[in-house]
Amino acid sequence: MNAPTSVPANTQATALGYPRIGPNRELKRALEAHWSGRLDAAGLEAAAASVRSGMLDDLAVLDTVPTGTFSLYDHVLDTIVAVDALAPRHRREGELASYFAAARGDEEAVPLEMTKWFDTNYHYLVPEIGPETVFAAKPGKAVAEFLEAKARGLDARPVLLGPVSLLLLAKPSEDAPADFAPFDRLDDLVEVYVELLAALRDAGAELVQIDEPALCADRSEVELAAVAATYRQLVARSAIVVAGGYGPFGEALPVLLEAGVEGVALDLVRGRSDLEALEALNVSRETLLLAGVVDGRNIWRTDLAQAGADISRLQRISDRVAVSSSSSLLHVPVDLDAEHELPDALIERLAFARQKLREITALADPEGSRAARPDAPDAWRDEAVRSRLAELGADADRRIPYAERQAAQAERVPLPLLPTTTIGSFPQTAELRNARAAHRRGLMIDADYKARMKAEVAIVIAEQEKLGLDVLVHGEPERNDMVQYFAEQLTGFATTAAGWVQSYGSRCVRPPVLYGDVARTAPMTVEWTSYAQSLTEKPVKGMLTGPVTILAWSFVRDDQPLAETADQVALALRDEVADLEAAGTAIIQVDEPALRELLPVRAASRAAYRDWATRSFRIATAGVRPETSIHTHLCYSEFGEVIDAIAALDADVTSIEASRSKMEVLADLDRANYRSAVGPGVWDIHSPRVPAADDMAEALRLAVAALGPERVWANPDCGLKTRRYEEVRPSLEGLVAAARTVREQL
Ligand code: GLN
Ligand code: ZN
Repeated sequence: MNAPTSVPANTQATALGYPRIGPNRELKRALEAHWSGRLDAAGLEAAAASVRSGMLDDLAVLDTVPTGTFSLYDHVLDTIVAVDALAPRHRREGELASYFAAARGDEEAVPLEMTKWFDTNYHYLVPEIGPETVFAAKPGKAVAEFLEAKARGLDARPVLLGPVSLLLLAKPSEDAPADFAPFDRLDDLVEVYVELLAALRDAGAELVQIDEPALCADRSEVELAAVAATYRQLVARSAIVVAGGYGPFGEALPVLLEAGVEGVALDLVRGRSDLEALEALNVSRETLLLAGVVDGRNIWRTDLAQAGADISRLQRISDRVAVSSSSSLLHVPVDLDAEHELPDALIERLAFARQKLREITALADPEGSRAARPDAPDAWRDEAVRSRLAELGADADRRIPYAERQAAQAERVPLPLLPTTTIGSFPQTAELRNARAAHRRGLMIDADYKARMKAEVAIVIAEQEKLGLDVLVHGEPERNDMVQYFAEQLTGFATTAAGWVQSYGSRCVRPPVLYGDVARTAPMTVEWTSYAQSLTEKPVKGMLTGPVTILAWSFVRDDQPLAETADQVALALRDEVADLEAAGTAIIQVDEPALRELLPVRAASRAAYRDWATRSFRIATAGVRPETSIHTHLCYSEFGEVIDAIAALDADVTSIEASRSKMEVLADLDRANYRSAVGPGVWDIHSPRVPAADDMAEALRLAVAALGPERVWANPDCGLKTRRYEEVRPSLEGLVAAARTVREQL
């Protein structure tokens, strides 16, 4: 059979969703002004309308535009509102007040819990659903945003987060019985979706996109049967295209097609196996196939030749193929044209959201470009790094057994039982932030900036000595961010001027771009640690960010496996660790808060991930002498699937988020054969509340009971940079007192 050489003239261009914070973070500013009382509800709505209008300006180059993907805070919260499932504690007079009560909490109620959205750095608000939840259709937002696009003459496709995913992402409400699962409520919820679809249909929507990202994860037979029943019911009301966006649909693909959906949106970047699966299935030529060939998760230009070939393959299956992004473009910055400092070779290889829309329209255009993506330039290769890695022996990631090195470490740095320490950062005061801003704008010369930061280190050391902590930190005042700080000093990385991506609510991050081979050209942290150590007799921990976290919070090259890139970062860190050790640092902490985040969505890929992730950490850390102690730090709960990986890091001390899980993580670590020491966070730093010393003592007693006194450290559950000294001082006083109390009772 002859492959079509170009796409048919009627091939449509679309995307699954779009960045919604505004090209210059306009929504962030409006939200923060509103929260602080400087902007009223009408003003906020005007700013939101202008952001939506800008989204439509950009999306107008497409044949069909997604609508409803704007959000004031989070699209999961929008869906909770659309099905009227707000918890009673968040219901207030006005809709906006209820919405923000759920998102951020207020005097009366704690907010919804927040957690990571699949394997991304986006955080969603976790719905709370119980047997008592009464669902009702509130189609207002979805209809209004659809009509906004219609009014412009655009062919609009409303987008809803689907009922299956909404429930699978939910947790049981506080009052739910122990055997209740939110998914039990699917039938009730589907009735409400039927009404939402009816409202959209009345407004003129001919096709609705329902996002079911939860179908990109492993699903049980029971769940798949429920998916089938759900979609049989929904397709009777409306033509539906189901989007996943976070890998292959896998076993859910035939289920959806058999249920009679109008079409599916395929993630052809991470879910290429769906393409083969589709070829093996008997698919109607009428099936709408959205070919997600343009990566919605990363910022590299699309290989248009490869994408064109994939589109052609789909055209052999169906007469209705459209070109699309692989996921919503939510995860990429808006416009590459805002970047003026990046090298040309990099600019030529990048595409942000606006550029991606152009790629999509080019691919839908029979005359459009099908240029193959050029390989990385030779200048981005570092043969020295590659050969060093190739020559790293099998022992490079192994230390002598913990018991032996523990003895050596105790001899080198004698510490009391339950040693007290912190996680690294101290409060980033307004003064510090001002100094950083002035330095960035060129208003403060390097020497003055450095002097100011050193003065801060001296303050932080003095504070800790006064508090009586056992192992000190320098406080990280010189770090703008725990990843960017290293990215700015390593080769192979670039930082963007305005490459902002929404992390949650009004919070945005600016991930560095890891584009080439990574190498360290000079020590990155030694001067700061050594300076801090020169001010005190107490041990000061060296403080580094681990390879997995550096990858997780960057846009990473996609032309080689992540494992290879991780090893390069690890090698650079290994050199830094060696230099810290040579400078006399006895304790080096390597943070891996994102170890859980990169865990693949599908179980089948997880073992390979655990292998490379933990090996890269060990490459970074295992080069030290036995008497040098390696600490690591993890936060964000839900360690379940990475608990073995935590053990495999083979650190001497692991400080870990434990306060929210009531220390349960300790038993899990034990089952994973973790035998070294643990610093279970006894104080939740995410809350401004000063914890009671008694509560911290009680947490320490639990830890001592679980691990024995020799293996317990006393520390908060994360860094202190977001807190104020007014909270930090009394909290740390309480921590030191709690450790003393429990120590004396041993
Ligand atoms: N050392 C870092 C700090 O204290 C760790 C931050 C984190 O875990 N996210 O700020
Ligand atoms: Zn942390």
